[in-house]
Amino acid sequence: MERTLAIIKPDAMGAGKAGKILAHLETSGFRVCALRMMRLTEAQAGAFYAVHRGRPFYESLVRFMTSGPVIPVVLEAENAVARLREVIGATDPAEAAEGTIRKLYAGSKERNAIHASDSPKAAAEEVSFFFPQEALVDPEG
Ligand code: GDP
Repeated sequence: MERTLAIIKPDAMGAGKAGKILAHLETSGFRVCALRMMRLTEAQAGAFYAVHRGRPFYESLVRFMTSGPVIPVVLEAENAVARLREVIGATDPAEAAEGTIRKLYAGSKERNAIHASDSPKAAAEEVSFFFPQEALVDPEG
C-alpha cells in the first residue's frame, strides 16, 4: 500500500464538486486516510508550490490557491501515486483523457480542480505538509 496527497482546489470547491470528486476517488479504488478543509495562506501556498517559484504562472497560481477553501486529502491504494496521476488526468484539461477528474471538472490549465503528488518523495513531503502523523487513520481499521 502506498499513500499520496490530493488537494481539491478552490475552483472545484466553489463549483460544489468536492463530493463528486471524493466519490470519483473512492470509486477509483482509493481509501481516505485523512482529510481537512482549510483556507491556505499566501505563505502556505507559496511554500507548497516553491518548486514553481520563478515560473511565469507562480504568482497567479498562489493567488488562485488562496482564493477560496481547499480540501487536502491523504489517499491510500496500491501504486497510489502513479494511479492518482492517471485518475486526475493531464495538467491542462484540454489534454486530459476522457473520464479523468480534470476532464470532467477542470476549467483551465490553472483552475484544474485537483492536485496530486507527482512522486513518492513528493507524496511523503506533501502529506506531512498538511497532516501530522497522528492525523493519518488506517482506513481498514
Ligand atoms: P500538476 O502536477 O499537473 O498539477 O502540474 P504542475 O506541477 O506542472 O503545475 C502545478 C499547478 O500550476 C497546476 O496544477 C496548475 O494549477 C498550475 N499551472 C501549471 N502550468 C501552468 C501554466 O502554464 N499556466 C498557468 N496559469 N497555470 C499553470
